[in-house]
Amino acid sequence: FSLAACTSGDKAASSGGSTADTAKKTEAGTGKIGVAMPTKDLQRWNQDGENMKKELEAAGYEVDLQYASNEVATQVSQIENMISGGCEALVIASIDGESLGTPLQAAKDAGIQVIAYDRLIMNSDAVSYYATFDNYMVGTKQGEYLEEKLDLKNAAGPFNIEIFTGDPGDNNAKFFYNGAMDVLKPYVDDGKLVVQSGQVDFAEVATADWATEKAQARMDAIIASNYADKKLDAVLCSNDSTSLGVENSLEANYNGEWPVITGQDCDVANTKNLIADKQSMDIFKDTRDLAKQTVAMVDALMGGGKAETNDNETYDNGTGIIPSYLCEPVVVTKDNYKEILIDSGYYAEDDLK
Ligand code: BGC
Repeated sequence: FSLAACTSGDKAASSGGSTADTAKKTEAGTGKIGVAMPTKDLQRWNQDGENMKKELEAAGYEVDLQYASNEVATQVSQIENMISGGCEALVIASIDGESLGTPLQAAKDAGIQVIAYDRLIMNSDAVSYYATFDNYMVGTKQGEYLEEKLDLKNAAGPFNIEIFTGDPGDNNAKFFYNGAMDVLKPYVDDGKLVVQSGQVDFAEVATADWATEKAQARMDAIIASNYADKKLDAVLCSNDSTSLGVENSLEANYNGEWPVITGQDCDVANTKNLIADKQSMDIFKDTRDLAKQTVAMVDALMGGGKAETNDNETYDNGTGIIPSYLCEPVVVTKDNYKEILIDSGYYAEDDLK
């Protein structure tokens, strides 16, 4: 199942990475690859890092895998060390997409290839490829889930909703937010959805560092001022770390009927909440597939060839379009989690107990 979800793109086009004149003489399947991940705090990045290391090693590469505790300065110095340490290509999931211009210029000058992993790296022409999930589709699926669950097309409403998205320095956050709001905003505008807190714009609903505690604190404040005697019908959460904060806050402070809540990543804690009816849906992004696509890009760059891409129009990082491969996100609910998460071998049944 999982590979199909990732490789079924019918737009399959091929467009190459910019193999700069300075490119080193490299060879597919040999050499050292630097893999820079943002943090160990969130479950998914641990899985991403492990998958990438495993797949790259299986393809013959040596791997320098680093996690940066969500600190930009740490990530910058890790990338500098990868460059001076002889890495021939870099795979980077950035903490702040705007902050890597200087080290990546150094990589480019040294003929080192760069792939943006999951999050686009902005304003750097050192980036050859971008491997990610269809981030706008993640948001669309969350918005459509709420639309269907609340029966917004038919029901009279109004329904109360609150909105939580991610870190403003993560280019993905705006794609998630826009994807969902393109579905939900018309209902907010015509009054069928009411945001009692009044916090609707991206800047008002962003969560710095995607931090669970920050989402939780904001939800605490929203409940205290708005939901003492009102029902909260739904919470749009862009990902699982924000939904977890919202769910913790509701558990501690809210007495009404449990709202419909969205998520993304299928973290263990959230999948448990899905089973316990505390989260209504999740978005599964199979990081095994993303790793496979990324390794194919590494091979193409190292071998001097072109990687398969399936989107060459969406992701402009400020220096032009970055040829991208978008894997497909999948909606998970209590009804299908066994098939999608367990039968595919992503989790063992015991992981979710
Ligand atoms: C990723 C999400 C993740 C979030 C927080 C985003 O860039 O695409 O999967 O939940 O960052 O780490």
